[in-house]
Amino acid sequence: MSIPPIRADLGLGEGYHSAQVEAAVRLNTNESPYAPPPEWLAAVQDEMATVAWNRYPDRSAWALRKAVADLHGVAPDQVWCANGSNEVLQTLLLAYGGPGRSAAVWEPTYALHRHIAELTSTALVEGRRGADLVLDRDEVKRVIAAGQPTVTFLCSPNNPTGEAVERALVEEVVAAAPGLVVVDEAYGQFAPWSAVELIGEAPLVVTRTYSKTWSLAGLRLGYCVAPAEVVAAMERAALPYHLDAFTQVAGRLALRHVDAMERRVAAIVEERGRLAATLGELPVDVWRSDANFILFRPRARSGDDVWQALLDRSVLVRNCSSWAHLDGCLRVTVGTPQEDDAFLAALTAVLS
Ligand code: PMP
Repeated sequence: MSIPPIRADLGLGEGYHSAQVEAAVRLNTNESPYAPPPEWLAAVQDEMATVAWNRYPDRSAWALRKAVADLHGVAPDQVWCANGSNEVLQTLLLAYGGPGRSAAVWEPTYALHRHIAELTSTALVEGRRGADLVLDRDEVKRVIAAGQPTVTFLCSPNNPTGEAVERALVEEVVAAAPGLVVVDEAYGQFAPWSAVELIGEAPLVVTRTYSKTWSLAGLRLGYCVAPAEVVAAMERAALPYHLDAFTQVAGRLALRHVDAMERRVAAIVEERGRLAATLGELPVDVWRSDANFILFRPRARSGDDVWQALLDRSVLVRNCSSWAHLDGCLRVTVGTPQEDDAFLAALTAVLS
């Protein structure tokens, strides 16, 4: 007997995962630099004492879904929650992808869209972003017309390039796509508009996460807003009791702190402006960002070199320089002003 070889179609090797190395300033995974409100933690602790831990959790996570639905002004049966928005995306492709079906992406974009397509044996219909890395309307329509994808992924704001997709383009894609359109808004609260506004009868799904704006990457909670029929399909594809009682309670109680969350978002957006302006004075190319991170490319030194030199100064950013179409690029998360100052000082020293 021997262990069989791993499936040959399992992409996403070691190269994708962000380095989890010790560094004083960690600006590599787009987390919030701020802890969640202490009142949230106290309320979670109190409510934990009332959970019937010997019982399975509410399989439909109804109270959480109702709270998320109230936040967005939709019905609870238009909301589905899971362990991070990655699990939402995976469940979407379990329900709607698979052999004989396809998913469209425009590279460079969030690598998990491609990876989850591969995991679920969903064929990829691949387009390219323009030379400026921004989504090009004609290319988007060409790929949809030629590929007739079952699922069309838009990432807005796009990771790792940073820019949000314009509302008019999302509307055009929804009109042109033959199947489901999934707008991944993991960074949606940092952007000027949200496709949640367009949710209704159209075959449109918007995914969101608690990992960034809600300061809760440790919780692993994401959700989508979608037509009720899509949510019902996802329920059929998900494992029973996939969302534990702790996550349901913690996620519901977080929604009592919308003001605190919005203050954090506003602070990060303001700080993003300062970081982008200062980066613009250095010998690097900088891309416009509607998210909580900024993509940049050192002009005179390789991305690998600069990444290592920053780490030598205990500043960790994301090294995208070997990713397709991102030659030499690095991505920095917007941190606290102190963290960003440390990053800028280290980068200035490295590039001088
Ligand atoms: N979508 C995008 C575009 C992301 O960048 C991320 C996080 N890297 C996710 C989804 C997944 O986030 P989570 O699973 O933490 O909700």
